Amino acid sequence: MTDLVLEITPGIPIPSFMTGEVQSKLAYVDEQIVSAKVAPDGSQIIIYLKPTAVEDDQARIIARVQDVVALMVKGVIQPKVQILEDYQDRPVPSKVDPMQELLDKGEVSMEGRGIYTLGPLVTRLIDYFEKCFVELADFFSAVPYRFPTLISAKYLDRVNYFRAFPHSLSFVTHLREDLDNIDHFAQSTHWEGDGLNANPDSFSRIENLISPAVCYHWYFALADQKLKSDHLVATAVGTCFRYESSNLTTLERLWNFTMREIIFIGHGDYVLEQREIGRQRMTKILEEFGLAYRVESANDPFFVGEFRKQAAFQSAFQLKYEIRASLPFSGKTLAVGSYNYHQDFFGRNLNINLPDGSPIHTGCIAFGLERLAYAFLSQYGLDIKQWPAAVREGMQ
Ligand code: AMP
Ligand code: ZN
Repeated sequence: MTDLVLEITPGIPIPSFMTGEVQSKLAYVDEQIVSAKVAPDGSQIIIYLKPTAVEDDQARIIARVQDVVALMVKGVIQPKVQILEDYQDRPVPSKVDPMQELLDKGEVSMEGRGIYTLGPLVTRLIDYFEKCFVELADFFSAVPYRFPTLISAKYLDRVNYFRAFPHSLSFVTHLREDLDNIDHFAQSTHWEGDGLNANPDSFSRIENLISPAVCYHWYFALADQKLKSDHLVATAVGTCFRYESSNLTTLERLWNFTMREIIFIGHGDYVLEQREIGRQRMTKILEEFGLAYRVESANDPFFVGEFRKQAAFQSAFQLKYEIRASLPFSGKTLAVGSYNYHQDFFGRNLNINLPDGSPIHTGCIAFGLERLAYAFLSQYGLDIKQWPAAVREGMQ
């Protein structure tokens, strides 16, 4: 617990549908912030500061918090949330956060913020989910791919990623090729407090990042091509990285996580149709998992300046739906997967065309494997005897 707490009354009241979005962005406002909370009615913001924060820091932080509120909230229109499925009433046996038991049993161990090793039970559970997703991919005759963990900054720039999601990027660097530089690093570098004591000048410029998503790699591989087929389907599982700052707690929000995607390329109506078929087939699969959840319209976590416009656009064109699993211990829900349609965004920005010369439309179905396991364990606990028969049998 820190000593320093700022209580801020937002200059513009935060509507309750925006409190979560604003709260998650406040973590990025200033390095002196430990955590931020927005009251559920949006009338107050509480900021917990590091004990080292001085009075000047406080004035700056208050001003920045008000800026963020103004940028995200001013003129925002409440999106009409569309609920496509609601199985939140599905009876489940557990109401306990499984995190402590997972840690106690060595089923989960924390290597660093947002970085976890998963033990045999959770791994086998995820393998079972994966088996079901690969079967779904087979239904679409999706071809398998293996994508790299690094992702090219050049291509991310072509799809405006830096503008939309700068806060969650994770960069890759290496020591500059300079014998003295490398020698100095080797002799003097150690872990110090919360990071390495190395001089930032010893590192190279950023050429690559670690990848925030799976399907981007396929679009990058097809950049500047005219396709021979009207439609294509692929599937891949990959490690993804999103820096979530002080929002990194338990398995709910990870820096390093795994995503399985099924990816569709074609004309708009084809992609939308496949996305819908995928959703309907998933209803049966989620019933087998016994998961309590709903599917509702959503938006991506765009950064402050881009948020209002981009979120409204996604909502107006129904570009994103999320599978939100219930977390009975908190009464909240957690996105464990999403159904996405990008229109011709990647086709236009990456110059990928169909045989008729029109830009490709793309869409994907994406599952967060750790989150799905965490939500399942929140609903069913760690005692396998309590689990749905299909899951128990499927894991053998
Ligand atoms: P998205 O592409 O943002 O819809 O992400 C697809 C899925 O990945 C989400 O529904 C989550 O299940 C999972 N996911 C996204 N961000 C994280 C994170 N920081 N930690 C764990 N899982 C995540
Ligand atoms: Zn995708």
